[in-house]
Amino acid sequence: MNALAATNRNFRQAARILGLDSKLEMSLLIPFREVKVECTIPKDDGTLVSYIGFRVQHDNARGPMKGGIRYHPEVDPDEVNALAQLMTWKTAVADIPYGGAKGGIGCNPKDLSRSELERLTRVFTQKIHDLIGVHTDVPAPDMGTNAQTMAWILDEYSKFHGHSPAIVTGKPIDLGGSLGREAATGRGVVYATEALLAEHGKSIQGLTFAIQGFGNVGSWAAKLIHERGGKVVAVSDITGALKNSNGIDIPSLLMHKEATGSLMNFNGGDAMDSTELLVHECDVLIPCALGGVLNKDNAADVRAEFIIEAANHPTDPDADEILSKKGVVILPDIYANAGGVTVSYFEWVQNIQGFMWDEEKVNRELNRYMTKAFHKIKNRCQTHNCNLRMGAFVLGVNRVARATTLRGWEA
Ligand code: GLU
Repeated sequence: MNALAATNRNFRQAARILGLDSKLEMSLLIPFREVKVECTIPKDDGTLVSYIGFRVQHDNARGPMKGGIRYHPEVDPDEVNALAQLMTWKTAVADIPYGGAKGGIGCNPKDLSRSELERLTRVFTQKIHDLIGVHTDVPAPDMGTNAQTMAWILDEYSKFHGHSPAIVTGKPIDLGGSLGREAATGRGVVYATEALLAEHGKSIQGLTFAIQGFGNVGSWAAKLIHERGGKVVAVSDITGALKNSNGIDIPSLLMHKEATGSLMNFNGGDAMDSTELLVHECDVLIPCALGGVLNKDNAADVRAEFIIEAANHPTDPDADEILSKKGVVILPDIYANAGGVTVSYFEWVQNIQGFMWDEEKVNRELNRYMTKAFHKIKNRCQTHNCNLRMGAFVLGVNRVARATTLRGWEA
C-alpha cells in the first residue's frame, strides 16, 4: 500500500470514530489545490535539463497551508499528496494555526552543483510564486533542501512581492530565521520520546537507541539523546551502518561525519549491514529517513519496545498491524516529528512581530507544545480505546473538521 492509500485509510478510520458526515469527510480528504510545474534549467555545461516540481495544498481551514519542499528522486504526486495531508493533521495535532501543504522536485540534489540547485529553486519559485504567500502557503525545508534553499526562495519571491521574510521558514538566521529551528525536529523528537517514556515510568537515561538516518533530524536526535544519558547502540545513513553495544560516542561521530561526509571508518563502532539496523537489539527505534522502511518483510523481527516515527510515514499498514500484535508502542509521525513545523510557526510569528526570541524561549515553548499535544493524544486514546496513531489522527481530524464546520462549507 503506498503512502497516500495508507494515509487515506487512517483518515477514514478517524472520520468513522468521530462520526463525521460523509460529505464533510470527502471535502477534508480532497486537496484544496494540486500544482505540477515543469522546471527547465541550463546545467553548468550549458545543456538544458527539465525537472517536474509539485506543490500540493491540502487544507487551509485552520490557517495558512504549511509544509516543506523535498528534493529527492522518488518525489511523485501520490507521495506529495500523502505528505501534504499528513501536514494538515500534524499542524492540527500540534495545535498551531496552520493547514497543510507539501512540495517537491523529482531530482537528486547530490547530482546537482550549488549553482544548478540555485537555478532550479529560482525557476520553481517563479512557477509557484503567485500560489504561495505569507498568509496563504508557507514553504520550509524537507529532505534534500535546507536553509540555503529557503534563502533562494525568499529572494526570488521578494522580486515579485517585495521583501517577505515570512514567506518561508527554516531560513538562515541572517535572513530572519529562528534560533533553534535547525535542531527543532530532532529536539521535538526527543521531547516527544521523553513524554512517552514518562508515561511508561521510564526515561532516556540508561535506555538503548537505534537511529536510522543521520541527517538533520537523526543527528540532532542522537546528540540530544546522548546528552541525556541514552545509549545510542546503532546508527545508519546512506553510507552504511554502525553498531556499538556500549554506546556510540555521538559527539565524536558527528565530528567524523563532518570531516569525512560518512559514518564509515569510524573507530568507535563496528560496521554492520544497514538493513539490520531496524531489527537491531534496542529499547527504542527511531526511523529518521524515508517512508515505508518498516513493512511486512521486517516488522516481525523488530526487537525494540518503542518506535518513534521521526520520519514521515516510516511504518506501512502491514507493519503497523504486526507491530501492534507484538505489543510495540509506536509514537506516530504526525506527532513525533511535529517539532520542526512547530518552530517554523515560532519563526513565522517572530517575522510578523519583527521581534526575535532567544533560543531558550524557543526550546521552552517547543517542549510545552510537544508535551501538551502528547497528553491530548493520550486522552483521545482513552476515550476511543485506540492506539497512539489513531489517537493523533482523531485529535487532528476533529480540530480541522470543527474549523471547517464553523467556517461553513455547505453553502
Ligand atoms: N518538512 C518538515 C515537516 O515535514 C517541516 C515543515 C515546516 O516546517 O513547515 O514537518
